[in-house]
Amino acid sequence: MTTNGNVSFWYAADGLPSPRPALAGDLDVDVAIVGAGYTGLWTAYYLAKADPSLRIAVLEARFAGFGASGRNGGWLANTITGGRAGYVRSHGRALVGDFQRMLNDTVDEVMSVAAAEGIEAHIVKGGELLVARNTAQLTRLEALAAEQATWPEDDAVRLSADETNARVRVAGALGGIHIPHCARIHPARLVQGLAQAVQRLGVVIHENTLVTEIRAGGRGKPATAVTERGTVRAAHVLRATEGFTANLASAHRDWLPMNSSLIVTEPLDAATWSGIGWEGCETLEDFAHAYVYLQRTHDGRIAIGGRGVPYRFGSRTDMDGATQPKTIKTLTGILHSMFPAADGARIEHAWSGVLGVPRDWKAAVNYDPATGLGFAGGYVGTGVTATNLAGSTLADLVLGRDTKATSMPWVNRTVRRWEPEPLRWIGVQAMYAMYHRADRQEAGGRATTSPLALLADKVSGRR
Ligand SMILES: Cc1cc2nc3c(=O)[nH]c(=O)nc-3n(C[C@H](O)[C@H](O)[C@H](O)COP(=O)(O)OP(=O)(O)OC[C@H]3O[C@@H](n4cnc5c(N)ncnc54)[C@H](O)[C@@H]3O)c2cc1C
Repeated sequence: MTTNGNVSFWYAADGLPSPRPALAGDLDVDVAIVGAGYTGLWTAYYLAKADPSLRIAVLEARFAGFGASGRNGGWLANTITGGRAGYVRSHGRALVGDFQRMLNDTVDEVMSVAAAEGIEAHIVKGGELLVARNTAQLTRLEALAAEQATWPEDDAVRLSADETNARVRVAGALGGIHIPHCARIHPARLVQGLAQAVQRLGVVIHENTLVTEIRAGGRGKPATAVTERGTVRAAHVLRATEGFTANLASAHRDWLPMNSSLIVTEPLDAATWSGIGWEGCETLEDFAHAYVYLQRTHDGRIAIGGRGVPYRFGSRTDMDGATQPKTIKTLTGILHSMFPAADGARIEHAWSGVLGVPRDWKAAVNYDPATGLGFAGGYVGTGVTATNLAGSTLADLVLGRDTKATSMPWVNRTVRRWEPEPLRWIGVQAMYAMYHRADRQEAGGRATTSPLALLADKVSGRR
């Protein structure tokens, strides 16, 4: 019997963390951070490191690591959310090259903080492996390889089918790309370890404390985070609520909450693993439009994720990680088609999480000294690394530091909001119907990218 939900598989072995005390009434601090995922906690970490005298409170609706940070696929990758092309147009090639190098370094920064803080998050830096499994996917792989050739910062290497299979034997692999700047991690162990690290630095995390409203400060007045348990007044109030942001009335249409789901097998036996290979623990992805992402876990399972029901009407978010039976079936089918040798393996756990999607699919780190309000997020499905850089950048902005990080193109961006319902729901359903249909056409032998996928990219604002 497959466990469905319970936040995520990543808590199955270690258990959910013991609750921390909730806010006990009104409070005055220097910095209030709303949300205790990677973004909120990294921000707190770098602020507390930079200025140990700061009084920092993190306000969390459930528990630290309840959101995407405790549920994701565990790819610590160097991706620039939303791609590089748009930023090249707006900010020029040189700055985007710097941004890429900064994200490469951020992978190592997370690894080095984890080591320094004694966080055992099963981190293995085996790079990212992208695999094409039909002719249309191979055409997209070639296009990406050609684009990568103009970005030496990425250090990507084009692999033949044999070279791809030498790393991981994926059925039907026609070729691959390997990017070295990526590590496989255990997401919940990273977020739990980070929460403990910030507490050691004197930051107070108030759990079971839902923020219902964030109000601007200014002209000598502090900013405020209003909760059901009291009001927190602070010189700086920073929102780090990602896929749950739509629940705050003032930000309801800022980021679309998109769902992503994963399943994980039981541990595979040695004979199955020797057929599959994957000794390098690369993170693995295909070139489908409704793509899947995979990791080989520390204890020898395969975790595979992809879009389930992508979006619920009215931006409704979460059911403690439960996903739809249909999604479990779809992901299981893809797993078996990629790794026929694993088709006898039991699916032990399935879960889902919610990520934040801005209208232009690009993340932002914003801070306004006039109001004391800031936020970071909108990473779509690529926040495990980006949250670290976002957190340190937000800390720089709060401290009024002019650094290389604060000059990056994602800082202080304005993005238009999503359409009101029902247009939002109809648009996202149509987009994913088109992606799935395009994938079926391509798997059925279509040699070039389906025009349906190109249309979906246009409708969604992705390109
Ligand atoms: C299934 C899935 C797989 C993913 N896989 C990957 C991957 O492999 N690699 C990758 O780079 N990215 C991945 N992502 C994205 C990545 O996990 C996120 O970008 C990242 O974790 C975002 O961190 P965060 O702290 O901004 O948000 P979250 O971790 O979602 O934290 C937000 C926190 O805010 C709290 N909160 C929300 N509203 C309020 C409120 N009003 N008051 C108080 N607290 C509030 C929530 O309870 C939550 O704890 C994935 C996401 C999902 C859902």
